[in-house]
Amino acid sequence: MKAAIDAGSCIGCGLCANDCPEVFEMNADKAIVKGPVPAGKEDACKNAAANCPVQCIKVE
Ligand code: SF4
Repeated sequence: MKAAIDAGSCIGCGLCANDCPEVFEMNADKAIVKGPVPAGKEDACKNAAANCPVQCIKVE
């Protein structure tokens, strides 16, 4: 499973890095994807995508 962020839409709220720090981290005022979703973190990653206030995270 992989996550991707539309950086142009990210408002830097930090929710995703809080929900799933194994995949997302903050870099200045935007979130970035650290790497592939680790085993066992799929649900946390999906929750982070669902909770993103601007729906700019894609998970596939
Ligand atoms: S939850 Fe969405 S808007 Fe907030 S930091 Fe993450 S990608 Fe950006």
